Amino acid sequence: MCNIAKRSLLFLLLAAMIGSLLMTSTHTSAVNAETADPNPLLAEWEGRYGGVPPFDKVQVALFKPALESAMTENLAEIDKIAKSSDAPTFENTIVALERAGQTLDRVSTIYGVWGSTMASPEFQVVQREMAPKLAAFNDQVTQNAALFKRIETVYNSPDKKKLTPEQQRLAWYYYTNFVRSGAKLDAKGKARVAEINQELAGLFTKFSQNVLFEEDNQLITLKTEEELAGLPQSVRDAEAASGVTRKQPGTWVIMNTRSSVEPFLTYSDRRDLREKVWRMFIMRGDNGGEHDNNAIITQILQLRAERAKLLGYQTHAHWRLENAMAKTPERAMELMMAVWKPAVARVHEEVKDMQALADKEKAGIKIEPWDYRYYMEKVRKAKYDLDQNEVKPYLQLDKLREAIHWVAGELFNFKFTPATNVPVAHPDITVWEVTDKTSGKHIGLWYFDPYARAGKRSGAWMNAYRSQERVNGEITTIVSNNANFVKGKPGEPLLISWDDASTMFHEFGHALHGLNSNVTYPSLSGTAVARDYVEFPSQLMEHWLSTPEVLQKFAVHYQTGKPIPQELVDKINRSRTFNQGFATVEYLAAAILDMKLHLLGDKKVDARSFEKEALAELGMPHEIVLRHRLPQFLHVFSSDGYSAGYYSYLWSDVITADAFGAFTEAGGPYDRKVADRLRKNIFSVGNTIDPAEGYRNFRGRDPKVEALMKKRGFSG
Ligand SMILES: [Zn+2]
Repeated sequence: MCNIAKRSLLFLLLAAMIGSLLMTSTHTSAVNAETADPNPLLAEWEGRYGGVPPFDKVQVALFKPALESAMTENLAEIDKIAKSSDAPTFENTIVALERAGQTLDRVSTIYGVWGSTMASPEFQVVQREMAPKLAAFNDQVTQNAALFKRIETVYNSPDKKKLTPEQQRLAWYYYTNFVRSGAKLDAKGKARVAEINQELAGLFTKFSQNVLFEEDNQLITLKTEEELAGLPQSVRDAEAASGVTRKQPGTWVIMNTRSSVEPFLTYSDRRDLREKVWRMFIMRGDNGGEHDNNAIITQILQLRAERAKLLGYQTHAHWRLENAMAKTPERAMELMMAVWKPAVARVHEEVKDMQALADKEKAGIKIEPWDYRYYMEKVRKAKYDLDQNEVKPYLQLDKLREAIHWVAGELFNFKFTPATNVPVAHPDITVWEVTDKTSGKHIGLWYFDPYARAGKRSGAWMNAYRSQERVNGEITTIVSNNANFVKGKPGEPLLISWDDASTMFHEFGHALHGLNSNVTYPSLSGTAVARDYVEFPSQLMEHWLSTPEVLQKFAVHYQTGKPIPQELVDKINRSRTFNQGFATVEYLAAAILDMKLHLLGDKKVDARSFEKEALAELGMPHEIVLRHRLPQFLHVFSSDGYSAGYYSYLWSDVITADAFGAFTEAGGPYDRKVADRLRKNIFSVGNTIDPAEGYRNFRGRDPKVEALMKKRGFSG
């Protein structure tokens, strides 16, 4: 399929920005692109399961020639469709496009996996070179006038009514995407849009690599035991391990990343060091000099505003939201502001609790942003008698993997079996075959890549390697789940936090969205849905972690094998809405600023003063800082992907909270009838129907915001 013009562009640009600067690839031997050996990245995927990605054959030097060759091939395919002398039909135009670009799809999938999990400095050079070229390629496709004419003819043809609903939506999808990319502009307008896109691609890559540079090159080294006061052993171990990798053995190193900074801020008794670590982290991209991102933000915003205007939209935000579920920036803003007030009110209560505790301890301080996590943890203990470290022994990574598989079996009748002899990018990765429990029918493959390593981006995410479809045969899904757990000692089970367990369920929800897909056309498959809808299936799955069925079977103590005591579960449940003020406000403030920035039009923006003024205007609590300050806001400035779209998490969570009610109102989380309805209307339909309609089919009505307010413990 002509994927690059559609879903893969976002994916490629995202991939272009990620990776850390540490990785020394094991595959460094140079490959001469001139040799007669065919480039293995271009080959059809071989092996069982309809073929699997040839991760064992990857060499960084292969990417550029493979991408270039695949782009040339795709352009030739598109040219043939565009220049056909036959009258345009759905079959010879739209379906032909769905069939084109398969080589490029395969190459860009592996390129994306390398960008996110195996990015060496050598690979980053390729990313910098390829990002503008891939952007230019995309414009070459969407600006092909003859091709657009054919798409437009099919879209406006009276014969369209004879097509199935899925086919009609696909025709609309192509038509609207081409128009939104500038297909209707004159030659001058098209040329300018293409120029802007290439300039943006370069700026996105620069923005991301600047953040990564500061994350990688700034650190705080602790040399004495006194500096470790308050830190639990697991945090000390991780910091000592960082000391070794940073060639400072015998010291404890705080890296400038979220996973290193947050535990320190939570547990360190040393207020002076907390402030130092906090400042290092929140200043990423904002330190002046060659890695400062402020000027890049100004440039990106100007280019986006100019492009939106050229394309006929009031602002970039209006352009981005047109095909989202929210439809307009105003609707998204309305929801955010409705949640903002009660969330801020909750923060004031949280701060009051923390201040009271600090006063009781005679700390003689006023709560500052670097105190929030520290006192929050103390309040949690005081109020709910809940110590996060008490929960951990019951949460073993391997057991939780069994748990998510079991839940998929209960809800969707899936069975997971280890698939051996499938090539992987790294020996830590395992592969599982997914089949139907009853019929044994093959459904897809699930790759699991749980451990941190150099060259792998931080955080957790899902990736689709191959989308289910039926245009090119019975093509089955291949997905992966990725995380960054620090490997435990050999032979010992790896214990994870409740939050990390919840994230595992979340990412697995994305995987299930891909695996359940049951559509005809690849462009509409699996997770290829509106940005503000795609987090709904994943956030929904988080709810199954705390079901008694999962806890009793899988949350078992790593030494005794006994299930987690009910008393501890009760404490977890009671503290569920704890700290929701903080979590909501640090996220929501960033989402509101993202939207406001992209509603400014072509006004020249100074990022520093905008951030300051906008937060003051919002009434941002002094004790909290943005989850992502603008100079490090990768969601918004590493691609167009989440720009004017960071609100999506909240939008999706409204739907999520409301949807779980369908289970609790019926027979509970494992009600088979509700699960069947969920699969039929949500998990299997991809983008073949309007999401709002899909949701109504599942729930019988539109989502209501009340469930979200209740879930977060806010009074609306
Ligand atoms: Zn997600």
